[in-house]
Amino acid sequence: MSLSFSQLLTSPLTWVVFVFGSIFGSFFNVCIYRIPRGNFFQSHRSFCPHCQTPIPFWLNIPLLSFIILRGRTHCCRQPLSWQYPIVELLAAILLVIVFWRFPFLRWQEARIVWNGLEGIRFLHAALFTSLLLIISVIDFHHMIIPDSLSISMIAATPVVILVHPELNWMSGMMGAIMGAAVVYLIAWLYILIRRREGIGMGDAKLLAAMGGWLGVEALFPIFLYGSVTGSLVGIGLLMAKRTMNLQTELPFGPFLAFGATLHLLLPLHWHELVYKLHTLVSPQL
Ligand SMILES: [Zn+2]
Repeated sequence: MSLSFSQLLTSPLTWVVFVFGSIFGSFFNVCIYRIPRGNFFQSHRSFCPHCQTPIPFWLNIPLLSFIILRGRTHCCRQPLSWQYPIVELLAAILLVIVFWRFPFLRWQEARIVWNGLEGIRFLHAALFTSLLLIISVIDFHHMIIPDSLSISMIAATPVVILVHPELNWMSGMMGAIMGAAVVYLIAWLYILIRRREGIGMGDAKLLAAMGGWLGVEALFPIFLYGSVTGSLVGIGLLMAKRTMNLQTELPFGPFLAFGATLHLLLPLHWHELVYKLHTLVSPQL
């Protein structure tokens, strides 16, 4: 994290990363649309969702096409979903933050220098946050987390542990097992107390994947951030919309994804924080 914010914005590498992020975002939109419908491998051309006209590549430029077309399709002037530019922008901003956190490429004396270990950390974080973004939007729309994504992430855990310089077998394996166990325990307690299902098994597989990819130490902060933001949004929605009540279901996946992304990109070291507070209270230590 050696770049300051102004250095980050003026570096040409940042803007290259931003453009790549928006292109990935446009691919994520395809994944978000096709994975829940089970036709991911069917066609490689993109079609207008209203009149089925094939969309030429020059109308499929991430972010720019939406602005030039002013949010309407070119063929039949029907409104385009805001989800397309939002996901493209989010993907671009996320990739820039991942690059800022793990700067594996840098300008040095008019040439690009690259760092292999930092490159692995960058790829790991970029892949992880991208999968979480796709999962979040699908969960938001359909209230499901596709097994094809969460089970694949769990299955890839050994490879992640093998390649990643910091993760170790104990922490990754414990993370995957504990992640699922924590959600099962909460689901069981919830059914016991409220007599209905409150947290889905999709969330168990998702937290297992997160524990595997980030290690068992990440589970507590992920769950804490996820439940705090989830509760705040839930209370906010309750106050804003009278039609909602305590029985209304909110998908938990996007909040867990937010928690995991926050923990990975801006880690708060709880033990250091407690130590600092302790030294403030008793300075002789
Ligand atoms: Zn059309």
